[in-house]
Amino acid sequence: MSLRFNAISSIANDAETSIPQFSSKITGIFGENVFTQKTAREFLSDEAYKSLITSIRGGKKIDRSVASQIANGIRAWAESKGVTHYTHWFQPLTGTTAEKHDSFFTLKSDGTAIEEFDGAALIQQEPDASSFPSGGLRATFEARGYTAWDPSSPAFIMEIGKGKTLCIPTLFVSYTGESLDYKAPLLKATEALNKAAVEVCNYFDKNVTKVTPTLGWEQEYFVIDAGLATARPDLVQCGRTVFGAAPAKGQQMEDHYFGSIPERVYAFMRDYEQEAYKLGIPLRTRHNEVAPAQFECAPIFEDVNIAVDHNILLMDVMERVAKRHNLVVLQHEKPFAGINGSGKHNNWSLATDTGVNLLAPGKTPKTNLMFLTFFVNTIKAVHDNADIMRAAIASASNDYRLGANEAPPAIISVFVGQYLSKVLADVETRVGTKFDEQDEAILKLDLHRSIPELMLDNTDRNRTSPFAFTGNKFEFRAVGSSANCANAMTVLNTIMADTLKKFKAEVDGLIEKGDKKEIAIMHVIQQYIVSSKKVLFEGDGYSEEWHKEAEKRGLPNLKTTPIALDAMVTEKAMKLYQSNGIYSHSELEARYEIELEKYIKTVQIEARVMGDLAINHILPAAIKYQNDLIKNITGLKEAGLDESMYSSQLTILKFISKHISVIHTKVYEMVEARKVVNNISHSREKAIAYENIKSTYFDEIRYHVDKLEHLVDDEYWTLPKYREMLFLR
Ligand code: ADP
Ligand code: MG
Repeated sequence: MSLRFNAISSIANDAETSIPQFSSKITGIFGENVFTQKTAREFLSDEAYKSLITSIRGGKKIDRSVASQIANGIRAWAESKGVTHYTHWFQPLTGTTAEKHDSFFTLKSDGTAIEEFDGAALIQQEPDASSFPSGGLRATFEARGYTAWDPSSPAFIMEIGKGKTLCIPTLFVSYTGESLDYKAPLLKATEALNKAAVEVCNYFDKNVTKVTPTLGWEQEYFVIDAGLATARPDLVQCGRTVFGAAPAKGQQMEDHYFGSIPERVYAFMRDYEQEAYKLGIPLRTRHNEVAPAQFECAPIFEDVNIAVDHNILLMDVMERVAKRHNLVVLQHEKPFAGINGSGKHNNWSLATDTGVNLLAPGKTPKTNLMFLTFFVNTIKAVHDNADIMRAAIASASNDYRLGANEAPPAIISVFVGQYLSKVLADVETRVGTKFDEQDEAILKLDLHRSIPELMLDNTDRNRTSPFAFTGNKFEFRAVGSSANCANAMTVLNTIMADTLKKFKAEVDGLIEKGDKKEIAIMHVIQQYIVSSKKVLFEGDGYSEEWHKEAEKRGLPNLKTTPIALDAMVTEKAMKLYQSNGIYSHSELEARYEIELEKYIKTVQIEARVMGDLAINHILPAAIKYQNDLIKNITGLKEAGLDESMYSSQLTILKFISKHISVIHTKVYEMVEARKVVNNISHSREKAIAYENIKSTYFDEIRYHVDKLEHLVDDEYWTLPKYREMLFLR
């Protein structure tokens, strides 16, 4: 019996699901595996605690002797919870997380066994990291990258079954100082934005000393039975199905979104939520998504640095917990063709240390002017750097989603809602007219009166926009479900920092020339609206008209990753990143190389898996059935029946033979094409060539395979079908 039928029958035999109960109220377990500030207070001396907190708040360095005290405190806490090992936990550019476990256990010079965790071990570790991607920055034979403690993200304990490991969040850096991970640039961009935003805030409120970007992500994912997933080599190796005919019932009934959560999935959710709460991940919502077997979870938003860690941590926890439930989580952007893909909306805003959300309309004209300033600066930032934002979300897997029917298009535009569109238009029509102090545009920016209207307007009508204002935050919706949010957030924070710096310089210039502050601000806002309004779009982002309109407006529509990535290394991008202290030229070049490499390898693996499945699964099944038909036809003929009696069999046989022949030919053509492409040494050209292979062969081969799935005897079909995988009970 094939793996497929084994998998199906084992589902039927599965014991009934037991829905786990949380071990206590959520508040009772929340953060219990995190070295929170409260825990730090308990386990650290006054000196060590103060030093840690100052470092978290202001990014000040901690010196070695204090670091040892902190290390001891962290160890004492971890040991009190049964931890024996620690690891530096980091986010290399592979997209997952990495760890190398060491035990606290060590021997003194006289052989006495002790447990130890000193400052040096806390601050720095040298993983044997020669095989993490570095884009050529760190010659592989040297293997000289090290991880450096990031005190701003708290240490935590990862529980795997009964095993517990202390994880120290770290940055991953080369010995020559270049960053090799997602976190270092994010921290730099966050700091650049903090500085720029505080200066602009100070026009309105001198008390603001810190501005923090906030992030609330919404993670979409699919859940399917582990047995079925294992029987699909494409899911195992690519995270998506490269073949699979559409089931009779897909998502057309639209009954999944509002449906109840299947019990097995519900049990899984409760389980990973409990793990997440212990890790201090503030999950808030869970629900079904539009596609069958698709779900979403979202936390309460947090400081961007922590939110990024929490997302990547949760993705890891989900994968592990799913196994306990005999399930597999698919975080790929497009695991199944023909039904919705998965995104990860990044809700982003700016919070001041005075407790103000800078992207929430205020209650007074002054706070409204502050809102308008940050709001318009965001639009301007996106307008000026849409190509760089597009590059930040480009990946082989997101290519299957962006630009497809039910995902945001690859065109970056901004949705602001009717009400704010009108406000912007009002301000804009005053071009040329001089604002004065009595101007109602300044004094009567009474947006607050319209907040209910505004919220309604903006939460409902943004579904097709890649970047939408949703009342008190922007939602970057084009980010892919499998991505590390850090990349998108680094870009957003950098372009915002850059725009705010320029804004400040322009406003100061006008003030120097004698303008009053508010007037100067209003003027620059007005210019920004004029110069960036072409990025605003309120209509249906999926529509054909928008694609035409966008082209007329000169907005880029970059559909594939190899081309979209160009924007990473333009002169504009180099200048942007360097002048804001995010990436040096060589770091940027290296990252660009890594992204191209990732793309090439992903498409290469998919192409191989496709060939493998076609030759080893699809064709053998089709040929078996072909033989059955031949036997049948010959038998009928021998029995002396008229041809009209077996003409249907003949027709099926012809179809099957045709599909077999096309599949076989195309698979071998694709292999030959790959041989040629693999000789290209220039990464960009090679990536484009791979994209070309993908667009030339993938859909065509798939078309014929999916046709065969409809024709061949179900008994012979070895790959679990969409209808089996997608309708989990
Ligand atoms: P929806 O978008 O479904 O209407 P919400 O507006 O409540 O729901 O929030 C969606 C996501 O936006 C949540 O993850 C939430 O934490 C996040 N969010 C809300 N406010 C902010 C903010 N100021 N900054 C960043 N994210 C936020
Ligand atoms: Mg939302």
